[in-house]
Amino acid sequence: MRAAIAVRPNERIVIEDVNFGGLGDREVRIRTRACGVCHSDLSYHEGKNGPAEMFPMVYGHEAVGEVVETGSAVSRCKVGDIVVVSLFPVCGECWHCQRGESQHCETFGLVATSQGFLREDGSRALALAGIGAFAEEFQISETLAVPIRTDVPLEQVALVGCGVTTGVGAALWTAQVTPGSTVAIFGCGGVGQSVVQGARLAGAGRIFAVDPAPLKRQVAQQFGATDLIDPIAQDPVEALREATDARGVDFAFEVTGIPAVAQQVFASLRRRGIMVAVGMPPAGSDYILSGRGFFAEEKQVRGSLYGSAQSRYHLPMLIGLAESGKLDLASMVSRKIGLEDINEAFDAMRNGEVIRSVITFD
Ligand SMILES: [Zn+2]
Ligand SMILES: [Zn+2]
Repeated sequence: MRAAIAVRPNERIVIEDVNFGGLGDREVRIRTRACGVCHSDLSYHEGKNGPAEMFPMVYGHEAVGEVVETGSAVSRCKVGDIVVVSLFPVCGECWHCQRGESQHCETFGLVATSQGFLREDGSRALALAGIGAFAEEFQISETLAVPIRTDVPLEQVALVGCGVTTGVGAALWTAQVTPGSTVAIFGCGGVGQSVVQGARLAGAGRIFAVDPAPLKRQVAQQFGATDLIDPIAQDPVEALREATDARGVDFAFEVTGIPAVAQQVFASLRRRGIMVAVGMPPAGSDYILSGRGFFAEEKQVRGSLYGSAQSRYHLPMLIGLAESGKLDLASMVSRKIGLEDINEAFDAMRNGEVIRSVITFD
């Protein structure tokens, strides 16, 4: 069984034969059908999110596959099921799960440090987020597995595991964008495009897509953006004020994780406007926002983890929206690639050439 191993940050990822050390009672083994290449895989590879001791590591967390084996106590899925993998576990029992906040499930730490993969030299490779789907097979806690039945092509379904849910959810469930409102999205990769789609689904009146990459602005328009802003050619805060009678927008989404951009996002809000922080900032970084903006202008900031989604309910719902043509997953997939193309896929992402590359398996 082959897996793509990141031996050390920033080094070329290598394909190796690996094994598992056995299957836990509440774990399932999954044959990977498709896995998206997400920006957070790249952030880990650039060493921005964790200590070097985490390596070697198998990335890949935006996945769909077929259950091929279940542990003795598994009840949520069975062999043969197609499951989309939730980025966060839903144990159903902990303090947060009981409150409908499963994105903060307290078992995440445990799930994320599952046994991972055994390399041929006997050493262990950690599975990112307890998933590790840049591999022909992977093993996860059953609390990550969401069984689905759908005709939507699986390379599209995979994206619901992370990027689509994070973005659409940020608009629908974190911000609760209102019909007719003005919405700005700073950063239009896979997650940002999904925010655009979420804002469209919510009935936003004007959707401003802000991104320096021409391809991404063009795609955003296809997903429902009504106005495109190149933040290199013009000051996006000025442009958004001009477009809104100098008031600013109702909702503004930070989808880059870059502190300087967060400052612009906050500045582009109208009085009482809502900023949603979606992007993953580098560990240890701070967002510096105008104190007067809070005090005198009543601006609000909301954090958004995984689009505030409740996986077992919302992941099938999003796939349903794709089935009825209301959510465009097909246009999110820029390239279908093989496992061995992972290094090139990272390069393409760095260069802003793709919305999503998706690794598919036969
Ligand atoms: Zn992701
Ligand atoms: Zn829980």
